[in-house]
Amino acid sequence: MEHPINILERYWNFTAFKPQQEVIIQSVIAGEDTFALLPTGGGKSLCYQIPALAKEGICIVISPLIALMKDQVKALTHKGIKAMALTSGISYSELDTLLDNCIYGNYKFLYLSPERLQQELVQDRIKQMHVNLIAVDEAHCISQWGNDFRPAYKNIKLLRQLQPSVNVVALTASAKPNVVEDIVKELDFIQPKIFKQSFFRSNLAYMVFHEDDKYFKLETILKKQTAPSIIYVRNRKLSREVSAFLESKNITSTYYHGGLANEEKDKHMNHWLHNTKQVMVATNAFGMGIDKPDVKTVIHINLPESIESYFQEAGRAGRNGDKAFCIILKNNSDEVLVKNQFLKVLPTVDFVKQVYRKLCSYFQISYGEGEYSTFDFNFNTFCKTYNFSSILCYNALLLLDRNSVISLTKSFNNKVSLQFIVPNHVLFKYLETHHDIDVIVKATLRMYGGIFDHPTKINTLKIADKASVTEQRIINILQQLEKDEIISLNLAKTDAQITFIEPREDDKTINRIAAIIEQQNQLKQIQIKAVLDYINNDSICKSLQLLGYFGETNLKPCGICSVCINKKKAEDPTDLIALRKSIIELLENGERSSRAIITCLNAPESHTIEILKQLLEHNIISITETNTYKLCHL
Ligand code: ADP
Ligand code: MG
Repeated sequence: MEHPINILERYWNFTAFKPQQEVIIQSVIAGEDTFALLPTGGGKSLCYQIPALAKEGICIVISPLIALMKDQVKALTHKGIKAMALTSGISYSELDTLLDNCIYGNYKFLYLSPERLQQELVQDRIKQMHVNLIAVDEAHCISQWGNDFRPAYKNIKLLRQLQPSVNVVALTASAKPNVVEDIVKELDFIQPKIFKQSFFRSNLAYMVFHEDDKYFKLETILKKQTAPSIIYVRNRKLSREVSAFLESKNITSTYYHGGLANEEKDKHMNHWLHNTKQVMVATNAFGMGIDKPDVKTVIHINLPESIESYFQEAGRAGRNGDKAFCIILKNNSDEVLVKNQFLKVLPTVDFVKQVYRKLCSYFQISYGEGEYSTFDFNFNTFCKTYNFSSILCYNALLLLDRNSVISLTKSFNNKVSLQFIVPNHVLFKYLETHHDIDVIVKATLRMYGGIFDHPTKINTLKIADKASVTEQRIINILQQLEKDEIISLNLAKTDAQITFIEPREDDKTINRIAAIIEQQNQLKQIQIKAVLDYINNDSICKSLQLLGYFGETNLKPCGICSVCINKKKAEDPTDLIALRKSIIELLENGERSSRAIITCLNAPESHTIEILKQLLEHNIISITETNTYKLCHL
């Protein structure tokens, strides 16, 4: 068997493993049921890809997100490794062909959404495959205490029955102890080998500041730390506003949110990546896969929805190991805001029932039918038609998606029309030198009669079926033909797609998942409470609070977070005496507001306020009508 390090070098061009990768890979190759708990960016993919490449046979990968699967397949294919993904929205006959290819075509990786495992066809074919490993990516989805519970993940157990002798590797970055326990149980691990890397990051200083004027504090921080920064805000509008504010203060800034067009996203991202803009102001849509090493500050001016997401977002600071700051600016209005934003938008069971029923009538699905039918879907039109609040409706659809009642894809479906613009003989001459596309062109000509004379709508899926290739391959060929000026091509795109996975049974369908909906809503409440506890707890080291949440207990205080620093200062009387002296000296030069004092002296706010209080009590200073402080003897 080839050594893992050689595979790493040959396919990835990396010369060394990241922490824990090698032991995990060895455990997987040895056939152990293995649990890999590495932080985001820790290199989990290689932990199943390398063992799969080291052995004969195919690796089955379960992954929750279509976009992630597609990225992985693309990356592997690019390295010359055969991989395919079976997502929803593939017709039965295409599925049949793909699975055949998979068995006879020497594929090394088969990516599956957990819903696919429900299909008998898929189960039958998997039984015939020579499977060398089952990998469960984002394994926390299996636990109802995980951040992203997907009941369909429970299907994975089926795989174990289909391939009882094959070992499983579960991978996740979510380390909550009850989640880990759930995963091991649900996946039926025998003598699990659990590898866990500590999530402690010694270079990150977690800070929480109470600030009535958050914009002012932002400006202060960013003028002091002029290195790359990310600011997380609550919504799209704020991302623009805060960015504009910073620019008005001569701090270069750009913004990012899910509603921007792709070109704009790229443009803004590049400005930030290449440091032409110091600050990226973004919603939580920003960050997946961002690997900028020199981020100095990550500032949340609105509260995150959970400790899990906070840890991820804050963790984008200091990837290069240099000291970096993860700051939350809070004030008294945050608690209400965060509840409005995250708790008031949770759809109740009744509301989900309403949305589901309307969805079925919108697409004219009759009772008992609709299984695996796919429709083009325009979300805004749907909401308008039934007067649904878009955020509530969106969340209800997400719930239905997670619970495998429907599947939503934003991966745009192509509506294609084309016309051949060269005469017959030119086309056949062209095909003589392009043998690989001969069959596909001829299949198209046969299916669509007038295609030389006028633009004709074609069904790429049908052609793909007929020629036994993937739809994507057809699209690629058409684009090539267009480039070579053989055809004129029109690739229009629709909004989104919706696939009904279960037959329509109205309330019965939803009743089956009612308990899950309620439990998930409750989980959200618990998560918000944990965030509020984190920002309000001023006695335990912030690093310890975060890691404690993830079940890490035997660590020492970090010494650099806002709590640790305050403790150090409080324990250091000379420091307080020096601060007191500095304040008096400063006021000898004229009266000043508390903010001006803090800024001038670069002093911790709580101590400054405390000392000002003492000085007032001892009549050393007094407050003026304009709320500034002045020395009494002046
Ligand atoms: P995760 O799934 O844990 O978030 P990924 O598997 O997506 O992480 O890997 C994150 C990044 O780290 C990828 O760009 C990957 O190519 C890179 N990477 C993985 N292993 C190594 C390694 N041994 N050396 C250098 N880079 C690596
Ligand atoms: Mg990953």
